[in-house]
Amino acid sequence: MDIRHISVPVIGGGAFPVRRIYCVGQNYRAHALEMGSNPDRERPFFFSKPADAIVTDGGTVPYPPLTERLDHEIELVVAIGSAGANVTDADAAHIIFGYAVGLDMTRRDLQAAARRAGRPWDMAKGFDHSAPCGALTRAAAGGPMTHAAIRLLVNGAVRQSSDLSQLIWNVPEVIAELSRYVALKAGDLIYTGTPENVGPVQRGDRLQGHIDGLTDLSVTIS
Ligand code: MN
Repeated sequence: MDIRHISVPVIGGGAFPVRRIYCVGQNYRAHALEMGSNPDRERPFFFSKPADAIVTDGGTVPYPPLTERLDHEIELVVAIGSAGANVTDADAAHIIFGYAVGLDMTRRDLQAAARRAGRPWDMAKGFDHSAPCGALTRAAAGGPMTHAAIRLLVNGAVRQSSDLSQLIWNVPEVIAELSRYVALKAGDLIYTGTPENVGPVQRGDRLQGHIDGLTDLSVTIS
């Protein structure tokens, strides 16, 4: 895929060209606990994926090499529509273009090894086809998304189920915090973290992600 042409479709027409992909780690209390962290002491944090890791709705995620444990992480994706550095929580809503359902696919065995060694997560998180992202719904007037059911079905069975109200850093807080580290620009996508019950997928699995008010994301593991 040519990095100049990576985009995500927008509901109602058009496409959103992707610049960078940022992700939040351990932004739901129950997921932080299942990962062996203490959400009362450790704040959420950021990592990134290459822009060309995007897989659009209806696409295929080839089972990646060098892992025996490919995990699903269902997440709300926030698309940034205009530049912002050091934005306040109050101003964060003004740079949101829209929202989508996303999957932060993770080579969990490589992540665990990196954690043990105190090494970077890049090869666990930033591999080819690791960032499925559904079509974008433009942000509505009336403020950022705060409450909505979020769930992931694998072959029709519910694997993850929570609500955006359970986010430790809500959407404006994620944007404001990230914008202190890097200058955000139009085209940036932020995967806001996964709720509990992450787990492995197998070749042939059909993943269907859902967030109330957004368009579902479906991908198949091959
Ligand atoms: Mn994640």
